[in-house]
Amino acid sequence: MNIIKRNGSEVEFNSEKIRVAVAKANNATQESARISNAAIDYVTNEVTEYAENTLATLSVEDIQDKIENVLMKVGPEVARNFINYRYKRALVRKANTTDEQILALLERNNEEAKQENSNKNPIINSTQRDYMAGEVSKDLTMRMLLPEDVVKAHKEGIIHFHDADYFAQHMHNCCLVNLDDMLQNGTVIGSTLIEKPHSFSTACNIGMQAVAQVASSQYGGQTISAAHLAKFIDVSRQSIRKEILSENEDAGIEMTDQQIEKVLAKRLYKEIQKGVQTIQYQIITLMTTNGQAPFLSVYMDLNEAPEGSARDDLAMMIEEILRQRIQGVKNEKGVWITPAFPKLLYVLDDFNDHEGSKYWSLTNVAAQCTAKRMVPDYISAKIMREYKQGDVYGCMGCRSFLTPDNENNAEGLCNADNKANAKNFYEGEHKYYGRFNQGVVTLNLVDVACSSGKDMDKFWQLMEERSELVHKALRCRHERLLGTPSDVAPILWQNGALARLKKGETIDKLLYGNYSTISYGYAGLYECVYYMTGHSHTDPEAKDFALKIMQHMNDKCAEWRKAENIAYSVYGTPLESTTYRFAKALQKRFGIIPEVTDHDYITNSYHVNVREHIDSFKKLAFEAEFQRLSPGGAISYVEMADLTNNIEAVLAHIQFMSQNIMYAEMNMKSDYCECCGYDGEIKIVHDENDKLVWECPNCGNRDESKMNVARRTCGYIGSNFWNQGRTQEIEQRFVHISVPKLSKAV
Ligand SMILES: [Zn+2]
Repeated sequence: MNIIKRNGSEVEFNSEKIRVAVAKANNATQESARISNAAIDYVTNEVTEYAENTLATLSVEDIQDKIENVLMKVGPEVARNFINYRYKRALVRKANTTDEQILALLERNNEEAKQENSNKNPIINSTQRDYMAGEVSKDLTMRMLLPEDVVKAHKEGIIHFHDADYFAQHMHNCCLVNLDDMLQNGTVIGSTLIEKPHSFSTACNIGMQAVAQVASSQYGGQTISAAHLAKFIDVSRQSIRKEILSENEDAGIEMTDQQIEKVLAKRLYKEIQKGVQTIQYQIITLMTTNGQAPFLSVYMDLNEAPEGSARDDLAMMIEEILRQRIQGVKNEKGVWITPAFPKLLYVLDDFNDHEGSKYWSLTNVAAQCTAKRMVPDYISAKIMREYKQGDVYGCMGCRSFLTPDNENNAEGLCNADNKANAKNFYEGEHKYYGRFNQGVVTLNLVDVACSSGKDMDKFWQLMEERSELVHKALRCRHERLLGTPSDVAPILWQNGALARLKKGETIDKLLYGNYSTISYGYAGLYECVYYMTGHSHTDPEAKDFALKIMQHMNDKCAEWRKAENIAYSVYGTPLESTTYRFAKALQKRFGIIPEVTDHDYITNSYHVNVREHIDSFKKLAFEAEFQRLSPGGAISYVEMADLTNNIEAVLAHIQFMSQNIMYAEMNMKSDYCECCGYDGEIKIVHDENDKLVWECPNCGNRDESKMNVARRTCGYIGSNFWNQGRTQEIEQRFVHISVPKLSKAV
């Protein structure tokens, strides 16, 4: 059994250390108030038993809390001395809180850092540099930049102040890149003027350079549109045609128009292949200054190209993206595996969501790709138009959604002016590309419930208070961005990715009037509702209460927005490693409450709890109602068995999504064992120490370095393994649709 030290490293639990600490406190106590040796044994045994019976890995603090509690009962004076000693030690540590963390990081034994982000490996030198900066930023943030009540609530797990490792700098979260403006009207990358490209593959190349720069200038994800690149397919077509004619002339060959078209089609296809390959390979091989590959999503929406040849070109590009993704990428041993990036977003609409529709065959390819590689995810144009004032657009990164920018206008016309000085701004039209998110603070709904002790009045009073705490923390994020000069990230603010502001100009006007959103995140609706009502929110008896909580958060956002002209929005937080942090904090504050705090994770956003037996269609239909109330971002998923041999089932889900839910994805399992070549699902098992480990069901291999496991953990696919809390959540996911399938072991 291990415990986690303050610097994040893990050590073997040692009951002798408890005995020594208690004895020390005892010796410091005046003789008449001392406890006996038998009592010291008793305390030692009680604490050891507690540590052994707790499923999760405890921290040094947890152990000390327990010692305190037991000592209080057997020797109050000794307990006082123990607390005193602890307090003094804490003061010494407070003098410099980062040293130990950073040194542990450099010596590669900071467990916390290792498991924080499943796409970031803290052993790599360049990643370590980012982590070091992160530790300094976190320290400054908690000690100096945030008000004390926000820090306290964050430390207690009542709220989560996200991305403190980047907060010291003036950086925003995620965005929709205005790639169209950059490519059509020129940009500057690394002080070099980049003009409009002359071919599709060059456009893809420039696009990826821009993506790398953007990723280094913010901390969250970014989304680009395939349509912005597909415009260059016709540019390539024209130039290839000219090339063929001139070659023929040089060689003295006379070709018929038909022959020319045939050669042209072949060369153009090669050009498209090359461009798409550039996107796939550059994205996963690029290392940004954040020490990881850019968190990129590619939005694939046929609506973005006018009907006819332009739309056909876009469809051609999308098909190539999907086909290359189905193939996968080769890992270092030459095995084709599932790449984590880019995330793909496929829009469903009348022309591609049913048998007989014009682009139905493209949707079939998408279905095959989802079955094999978990992407694309699906956006329903039909449902989105209902929610977003008739508009359809991509999320920023993995799930953040903008708010339409026209909502102040009674006629439904957009009266926003061109704040960003974009060169592709059209009067009266809504603008989405170039907009961004200011950041996230998440409320732990489970804590609100448990703190109320099932008293409904108290619950709503706490919701009000804690919403205001989130508000206060969000104000800090907003104010950290206020006054930021465009010069901190020229690619973003001066050269078109988000805006074309002047040098020295601040980004302030982009922080108001709905231009950028700021997110009120929430987590654990399921556990919250269960604690208060004794039912899952899928139960009709509890559902209204769940919806009322969602409505409350929306009302708060509306109130703040009205008062401050800042686009507050309710957001279903991805909660990657925070799920474990919240779960541990809840156990510490409230003990083990069945179905509420008895797991090492809490349920994301409004999701149905992963253990609940519910079929996939019911789950999607149920969650759709909640998605409507999560306008700042949310995604629903269903957990599938391996469906690579049952594309019909995948298509059935896609069709259902198109009619019922704005944004959804399917989780598949296509892993690979490098020891035996097995390519089905690699399972999670308990090892001798009751730790969760991954094991190949075919050969028993447990070496993580010899297997490829890809799971969706936060909207993005992770493949570097996860902390125990998230691993437990993955293990307990109920499979919403399982179709028997032939074993694929070789
Ligand atoms: Zn194996």
